[in-house]
Amino acid sequence: MVEETDVIVVGAGLSGLVAATEIADAGKRVMVVDQEGEQSLGGQAFWSFGGLFLVDSPEQRRLGIKDSYELAMQDWLGTAGFDRDEDFWPRQWAEAYVAFAAGEKRGWLRAMGHRFFPVVGWAERGGYDAMGHGNSVPRFHVTWGTGPGIVEPFERRAREAMKTGRLIFRFRHRVDALSVTNGTVDGVSGVVLAPDDAERGKSSSRNVVGDFALKAQAVIVASGGIGGNHELVRQNWPKRLGEPPKFMISGVPEHVDGRMIGITEKTGARLINRDRMWHYVEGIQNWNPIWPRHGIRILPGPSSMWFDATGTRLPAPLFPGSDTLGQLKYITSTGYDYSWFILTQSIIKKEFALSGSEQNPDLTGKSWRMTLRRATNKGAPAPVEAFKSHGVDFIVRDKLDELVAAMNKLAGSDLLKLEHIRMQIEARDREIANPYVKDAQVMNIHNARRYIGDKLIRTASPHRILDPAHGPLIAVKLNILTRKTLGGFETDLDSRVFGEEGRVIPGLYAVGEAAGFGGGGVHGYRSLEGTFLGGCLFSGRNAGRAAAKAVG
Ligand SMILES: Cc1cc2nc3c(=O)[nH]c(=O)nc-3n(C[C@H](O)[C@H](O)[C@H](O)COP(=O)(O)OP(=O)(O)OC[C@H]3O[C@@H](n4cnc5c(N)ncnc54)[C@H](O)[C@@H]3O)c2cc1C
Repeated sequence: MVEETDVIVVGAGLSGLVAATEIADAGKRVMVVDQEGEQSLGGQAFWSFGGLFLVDSPEQRRLGIKDSYELAMQDWLGTAGFDRDEDFWPRQWAEAYVAFAAGEKRGWLRAMGHRFFPVVGWAERGGYDAMGHGNSVPRFHVTWGTGPGIVEPFERRAREAMKTGRLIFRFRHRVDALSVTNGTVDGVSGVVLAPDDAERGKSSSRNVVGDFALKAQAVIVASGGIGGNHELVRQNWPKRLGEPPKFMISGVPEHVDGRMIGITEKTGARLINRDRMWHYVEGIQNWNPIWPRHGIRILPGPSSMWFDATGTRLPAPLFPGSDTLGQLKYITSTGYDYSWFILTQSIIKKEFALSGSEQNPDLTGKSWRMTLRRATNKGAPAPVEAFKSHGVDFIVRDKLDELVAAMNKLAGSDLLKLEHIRMQIEARDREIANPYVKDAQVMNIHNARRYIGDKLIRTASPHRILDPAHGPLIAVKLNILTRKTLGGFETDLDSRVFGEEGRVIPGLYAVGEAAGFGGGGVHGYRSLEGTFLGGCLFSGRNAGRAAAKAVG
């Protein structure tokens, strides 16, 4: 017998959970299917740092940050660079999303018990002109409790709805097809996977033990992006970012496989902007991996010196934390797929944050006592120190010649010349004596420290890299790490998916990363950060509310 419900949601990640809870709370029946087990509820969001883009929030105001919808829109448009016919809906989404981030978003979350860490971070700082890429002001609000803290309110709502029978989960159910009757999407079918108690995030078995079919008046695709499928990433890699790297590490679990995107396309759903993606260049190989090729992204403060594989400093304004895709493009243009940070113990202690809930036990565990140690400790946070000791990409030495020799050994080449590197570091170090200088990165450091949040916990006081009092010296080999899919299914503001002739496909919705976080690419070419989780919240909410209304 084919089971029936009002709405089916494919994917129990954040966007799927938000959509499903909105449907259940509107009094409709919803079934959430996911290929993974219950232990992986929340998908990628559980592993995330929980950073959310907000505009003109009380947290910003308390830190003296003056922000506005207009300033945020200026930054969004300068960053997105919308330039295609396909950008019609993404642009509508951008305007609506920035209004949400400047309005309802915080209060809506707060009413569900969600809270923020009070110091607002400053991601993607740009470095071009006022209309160019980047955040003019800090806007990265970290969830108190990181990733699990953003999943928790929606999981709680889902479990409440389960008690009334309005929401049902079907774990280990992998969707292989959408069913279409008279042009309307009205169900899903697929296979039941064998139970597997693999820990959250670990790869689970794909052994099939049965099949299933479900019927509904609407289906919401919330299946995530393609970042765990390197073959697909390489296939969609745009020429403007150079050749796809030969070596990449994964910033997402293996279930981010992109498979459901191809399945949805078979209904005629229009996938746009598939060449837009968001991968990081500060990836380090996890010494204690959870998923295959597991990499962690360093969220760097502004002081580390950045060198390409040949030992040449990255050009201005490609400093740490400025322009992710600008850096990616530069690095691929060198013909190598890695680059280097050189820094000091004083810099790593204050400026290295690692993206991922498990890498921030203080914030994830909501421990003020542990979090305050970030400001008072002699060393870096314990997870950073652990990477320093065990990470294959880290080198720690007292002297520059020893450091460079070890870097060459790690790269398996002699590309780095000691005198070339020494000359560049000494030149930068001479710029430290005055607060008004020529070196744009040193100017950046002074600028960052004028923001109290950076001065307190994110930017080391300016010092010479070669000053032994700030040592030892540290080099980090940085890899390219796959993460987000910026393109996706084209949708209207209700998250209804368009078909090839520009007509909405009845019964079909897409949300979260599968919808390019809204509309098929709300970010355009680039992101201001903290906009991915926020895009899951906004698109999931819109879809859930619209589908609940539509099913009558
Ligand atoms: C380490 C890390 C740090 C991050 N930090 C941040 C941050 O600070 N701020 C921010 O904004 N973003 C961050 N992100 C990004 C953000 O977490 C994700 O983009 C977002 O959670 C994606 O949610 P989603 O619901 O679209 O998809 P997912 O979380 O990928 O969920 C999709 C679900 O669909 C299921 N599925 C897929 N195909 C099928 C199928 N055929 N049948 C059944 N089920 C299927 C999958 O198993 C999965 O459970 C981070 C991500 C990671 C990994």
